Amino acid sequence: MSVDCLFCRIIAGEIPSYNVYEDEFAFAFLDINPIARGHTLVLPRVHVTKLAELEGEALSGLAAALQRVAAGVEKALEPEGLNIFINQGEVAGQVIPHLHAHIVPREKGDGVRFETPVVKLAEEEFGKVSELISKTI
Ligand code: 5GP
Ligand code: ZN
Repeated sequence: MSVDCLFCRIIAGEIPSYNVYEDEFAFAFLDINPIARGHTLVLPRVHVTKLAELEGEALSGLAAALQRVAAGVEKALEPEGLNIFINQGEVAGQVIPHLHAHIVPREKGDGVRFETPVVKLAEEEFGKVSELISKTI
């Protein structure tokens, strides 16, 4: 646990939250400023900031919990769809430096927007970038 971390303190029960799930590896509660009704955050118990910092059971436990909580949100609220995403790094919108996945229930015409410009890449750039990435994996 990191004493300075809001989400670690929520997991420890020091700060109140509307919890929806917990197990040995993961914890889930409602977002305090929801994008939509049922907006839920799923996080590892261990304090890490990036997905790459998780290993072994902590990683597979988070993945299993994410799937389980998403299924629960679907079953309970019957949205037409879900956005499931992680903001990693300040530039990507990560405000709380404890890794967490967002589950956002979606309905047609709900007004939620993830607006983004489309980057034009030349054919050779696609080739170069896919090679760069695949070599590191
Ligand atoms: P991020 O921008 O880091 O991906 O997401 C952080 C999320 O945590 C935001 O959606 C924000 O509304 C939520 N949040 C911030 N403080 C609290 C809090 O004290 N309790 C809960 N339940 N959610 C919080
Ligand atoms: Zn933390």
